[in-house]
Amino acid sequence: MSELSVDHLLGIKYLKPEDIQLIFETADHFKEVINRPIKKVPSLRDITIANLFFENSTRTRLSFELAEKRLSADVVNFSAASSSVKKGETLIDTVNNILSMKVDMVVMRHPNPGAGVFLSKHVDAKIVNAGDGAHEHPTQALLDSYSIRERLGEVAGKKVVIVGDILHSRVALSNIFALQLQGAEVMVCGPKTLLPKYIQQLGVKVETNLIKALEWCDVANMLRVQNERMEISYFPSTREYTQQFGLTKKIVDSLNKEIVIMHPGPINRGVEITSDVADSEQAIILDQVENGVAVRMAVIYLLASKIKR
Ligand code: ASP
Repeated sequence: MSELSVDHLLGIKYLKPEDIQLIFETADHFKEVINRPIKKVPSLRDITIANLFFENSTRTRLSFELAEKRLSADVVNFSAASSSVKKGETLIDTVNNILSMKVDMVVMRHPNPGAGVFLSKHVDAKIVNAGDGAHEHPTQALLDSYSIRERLGEVAGKKVVIVGDILHSRVALSNIFALQLQGAEVMVCGPKTLLPKYIQQLGVKVETNLIKALEWCDVANMLRVQNERMEISYFPSTREYTQQFGLTKKIVDSLNKEIVIMHPGPINRGVEITSDVADSEQAIILDQVENGVAVRMAVIYLLASKIKR
């Protein structure tokens, strides 16, 4: 396969296994590029990309911007806090105004699930979903799988547990889809109140005991508790959450095998993971960040190659 089966990256659920394969092979090439003294290729010199962030982000926004610049695209950035959205403009009007400035691709983070799909039906540009509410975060899941492949050789057949706030996490949903597409086994683990009722229907194992989950897995992806998405309390206190679901050095050392430890960031050190674990050899958290740029370069490059010129 030499091109993606999709015209936009709206969610992992729209991808085929071959799309992921193609993205990873392309990312391998770009990973080599970004480790050269001159970390740039002229591939997208004629392409303009708008990064529209209607919700806060540090890593993802910087990662996309770096990826775009390393492909030599022209980049415009927009964040909702300083925009006319605050003056009551609709999403389509905002985006159409930006597109009239001849933008070819839109990378969008938005608090509403489905915002990217909606936009892709109404505007003439390639759309990349950089996180839509608690729904999907496809590039995060791609960079997570890419990092597992890099550390363990392949994703197929691996056992991955996603630990924590599954209910409010777009990272969890996109990871479940991506890992299953590649033939990995997935388990979710967390307090019952943070495990959505429908989750078993997605074909994942469910566990509420962290130690049992860790004994089962090859890889543990530790999620942050998404306090900003909670209107009520889902567990008695942060201390109790940490006692039951926090990953400590003592727990890691008590396992009779070595597991790979991941985190999408931002980390709440001392809550879902202690510093000594987050900074240990077994953790690939900074590899995930580095791979994020290469994977996003691959996604943007492959989508841009479908633009009719
Ligand atoms: N950075 C990830 C996201 O945007 C995870 C998190 O915020 O905890 O969903």
